[in-house]
Amino acid sequence: MAHGKKTHHPDTRLTTSGRNPEANFGIVNPPVYHASTVIFPTVEALHKAEEHKFSQTFYGRYGTPTTFAFQDAVADLEGAEFCIALPSGMAAIAVALIANCKAGDHVLITDGAYAPTLVFARTILKKFGIDITVYHPMIGADIKDLMQPNTRMVFTEAPSSITFEVSDISAIAKVAHAAGALLAMDNTWSAGYYFKPFDHGVDISIQAATKYIVGHSDAMLGTVTMNDEKLWKKARITAGALGHAAAPDDCYLGLRGLRTLAVRLPRHQSTGLKLAKWLAQRAEVDVVLHPALDSCPGHEIWKRDFTGASGLFSVVLKEGFDQTAIARMLDNMDLFAMGYSWGGYESLIIPADPGSSRKAYDWPHKGQTLRIHAGLEDPDDLIKDLEAGLNRLTS
Ligand SMILES: *Cc1c(COP(=O)(O)O)cnc(C)c1O
Repeated sequence: MAHGKKTHHPDTRLTTSGRNPEANFGIVNPPVYHASTVIFPTVEALHKAEEHKFSQTFYGRYGTPTTFAFQDAVADLEGAEFCIALPSGMAAIAVALIANCKAGDHVLITDGAYAPTLVFARTILKKFGIDITVYHPMIGADIKDLMQPNTRMVFTEAPSSITFEVSDISAIAKVAHAAGALLAMDNTWSAGYYFKPFDHGVDISIQAATKYIVGHSDAMLGTVTMNDEKLWKKARITAGALGHAAAPDDCYLGLRGLRTLAVRLPRHQSTGLKLAKWLAQRAEVDVVLHPALDSCPGHEIWKRDFTGASGLFSVVLKEGFDQTAIARMLDNMDLFAMGYSWGGYESLIIPADPGSSRKAYDWPHKGQTLRIHAGLEDPDDLIKDLEAGLNRLTS
């Protein structure tokens, strides 16, 4: 019941997975169950419930039926057995790392990781005696040169945050597994819709469900997904011990978002591509970093491994526009708003500075980087907004 029927198309399963109307008075959507206390009629029932506390109601921190419904649906989306809902994407990243690494271990992390992931690794993991090496996102099978006898986990993200290099996940998985290490991946960009991590050797997939799964910029939510029951239990115990409980209202919003993922993402994709191609022929633009364009490092890998592109990409402007010009462009946008996060229905634009954060390689571009999220507005309205903005650079 929990997972969609395997014989159905994945888009069909997005509309059915996690539902259980029979248990909810025939109501289509699993309702929001708020709970701390769950009560038991007998000592025997109490002990029995404790044995199954990770997948049935036992105590609010381990989830309510709303949490379980959301987890089942995300597991089904990513092609896995198990999922844990967490209060944010960052909580999901932290749980995946802490659950599997201990003092004395070594972790390899892509330089293209979401910046707070690297902050977490360099502060919290280091503090607890876990050693970190940052690797180039295009390293591929050469990652074997960085493996150490104590490498416990390789952490990857594709495409990279801000810079959009597409890593060769399968090649990295082979090397990691040959060395007895786990491969964890931040799969937020594809939403688990355009990249199926477990078909490419990933052991643990993480998403900031805050982005496309919630899809409406109104909740913080994270997921950790896996097929291996032992990995699931470890992560579940860690999440509980850290005190993480995703709020049932937010799980409800995540589940509601999932129901329309299969219509929203293709629209984000087509608008994003239209904007990216339009930007690529503008005189102000040096390079467009969109995995579906061959100007993006790893484009060939994206073509091989991904079935589509979401709406997030970057553009690097030519050199010579000073910060006053950039502000003239960005401060006066009509539809594109400036703000963090992405994956909602609205278009966003932010200035970024990969040159200051990349450690494993020198960022090759000198001009201003702008990260763009293509929302669900009319694409021609968005192009007009970008056109006026680019014109302001020189006016
Ligand atoms: C936003 C983001 C996160 C963090 O998610 P939060 O829900 O904001 O904590 C993690 N990874 C990627 C790639 C993100 O874009």
